[in-house]
Parts: sequence; structure tokens; C-alpha cells
Amino acid sequence: MSTDVAFLGLGNMGLPMALNLVRAGFSVSGHDLVPANVERFVAGGGKTETDSMKAVAAAEVAITMLPASRHVESAYLGDNGILANAKTGTLLIDCSTIAPDAARRVAAAAVERGLTMIDAPVSGGTAGAAAATLTFMVGGPADGLSKARPYLEKMGKAIFHAGDRGAGQTVKMCNNMLLGIQMIGTCEAIRLGIANGIDAKLLSEIIGKSSGRNWALEVYNPCPGVMPNAPASRGYGGGFGVDLMLKDLGLAVENALSTNSSVPMGSLARSLYDLHSKGGAGALDFSSIFKMLGAPDK
Ligand code: NAD
Repeated sequence: MSTDVAFLGLGNMGLPMALNLVRAGFSVSGHDLVPANVERFVAGGGKTETDSMKAVAAAEVAITMLPASRHVESAYLGDNGILANAKTGTLLIDCSTIAPDAARRVAAAAVERGLTMIDAPVSGGTAGAAAATLTFMVGGPADGLSKARPYLEKMGKAIFHAGDRGAGQTVKMCNNMLLGIQMIGTCEAIRLGIANGIDAKLLSEIIGKSSGRNWALEVYNPCPGVMPNAPASRGYGGGFGVDLMLKDLGLAVENALSTNSSVPMGSLARSLYDLHSKGGAGALDFSSIFKMLGAPDK
């Protein structure tokens, strides 16, 4: 049976993205190290097979949505990895958030094998993944992006060509450093309002129409009960993990060292997320930093 897409990484983001491709009519083979994630994909109409590399070898497009640089490097560059198995002409799309340098290394190895690869990290969270409204930030050749468009358009609604290999990851790194900083600032402001007897919902509504407005406040409010659909209102489950935000802030701080850039707020945000993770919150949504900034019982 022919396969349009081999999709590796069916976690919080990858599962809804892959299911949107299935709904759009593509034949998608989904793979994850966690069997329950694959079962959810199959229950949603996707197909799978025991050997993910057999699926890659049969696919027109391989898409990866993996946690971090090391997972992407091993999935593509490993002895029995994607580059070793993809047939000539297969388009490679990595949607994970990884270091720009790692993205360039993997894309260079793909080119050496005669394959086209783009880095296409996303923004928009799990809600954006489910609603197919993600923003894609693409690095790599323009013809690679043209070939990828029919697939990306079914998973997102804004697609930007940021530049050459790794440029998508560079833009994503800048975006997520700002997001991490904004989330902490938003938590501080809501905490301060509550400590002064202001209702968190009312405070958020007013700031949402004032100069402090931002995505963390308006779309992803970190205070439980303010937004029924935000991770804060479901015990900070699902969403974008603290450890993933910590990874992204680490990428920004490392990159700042190598480019001699000053990121004092990004460094501080990284340290706060590090403490939060060490306190046992690594798997919670990143908006749970709200808890760290309050009294232990709140
Ligand atoms: P996740 O941890 O929920 O999912 C990653 C999945 O990859 C896991 O299910 C894991 O089992 C699987 N995996 C790891 N190695 C694999 C391999 N070799 N083959 C197949 N599957 C493998 O993470 P997520 O929240 O879905 O995030 C994925 C990427 O997207 C990360 O780089 C993250 O930074 C980025 N991102 C996440 C969000 C968000 O809101 N969660 C938003 C934008 C970007």
C-alpha cells in the first residue's frame, strides 16, 4: 500500500497534526515510542506498521515532531535512521523545536544523500495543532517549502519562509524565549492582583484590553479557572511541558553565548524554569510556573 506521509512523534503536538493530515485525505503512517500514542492515532483513522523505517522507505514525505535535538539527530542520522532509509525524492520535514546548529547538521547530511530537507518548527500550542491553525517558520530551500506546502497547509494557517537551513529554528528560538519571559511576567502580574484582592478573571480581562496584553494572558491564561480550555484549568496537564520550555530557553541562552548577544531576561527565565523543573514540575504545562510564584497551598 502506498503511503504519502511517514509521521514520527505522536505526542501532544504530533498526534493532532498527523490526524489533520489523515482528515485531509493523505495516507499517513504514524509512529511513536509510546504504544498508547500510536493506538490513539490508529483510533483516529491513521495507520501504522511495526517498523517505522519501513514506513519511511515507502513514503513521499517524512515528518518528525520529536522532543529535542538529540532525538532528531538520532532519528535522522542513526545507522538505521531516516536518511539511511528514505528513497530518492522523499521530502524531509522536521517540525520539532531544536538548536539551529543541529538543524543545519541534519539538513547538510540530507543534502549529501541527495534529499531535500526543511526545518519547519511551529507555534500555536496544542490547541493550534488540533485546530490546524499553527504558524510554521521554515528554513531551507524554497523548492523544499513549495513541495511541503500542501502538507503544511493542512496543519497550519500561516507559513513563513524565514531563510536558509536552520533559519526556521532561529526564529522559533527567539519566539519561545519571548514566550517564556512573557509567561513569567503574566504570572507575576496576576499573582500581584490577587494579593491585592482583585479577581483574576476581571484583572485578565482588563489587562487584555490594555498595554500589558499578550498571548500568555489572552490565549493561555496561567491562573486556574480564568480560561476553561487552558492547561491551568485542567491541573496543568497536556499542553507545552516545563521541560520543553526549559530546553528552548537553554537553546536561546547557549545561542546568545555563541553570538555574543545579551539575554538577561531569557537567562533569568531559564533559571526559574530550571528550579521549577527540579521541584518536580517537569512534565506539567509551562504555565504551571504560576504555582511556583504563589504560596505552596495555592
Ligand atoms: P511530546 O513529548 O508530547 O511528544 C514527543 C513524542 O516523540 C513523544 O511521544 C515521544 O515518545 C516521541 N518520540 C521520541 N523519539 C521518537 C522516535 N525516535 N520515533 C518516534 N517517536 C519518538 O512533545 P510535544 O509537546 O509534542 O512537542 C514536540 C516538539 O514540538 C518539541 O520539540 C516541542 O518543543 C515542540 N513544540 C511543542 C509545543 C507544545 O505546545 N507542546 C508547541 C510548539 C512546539
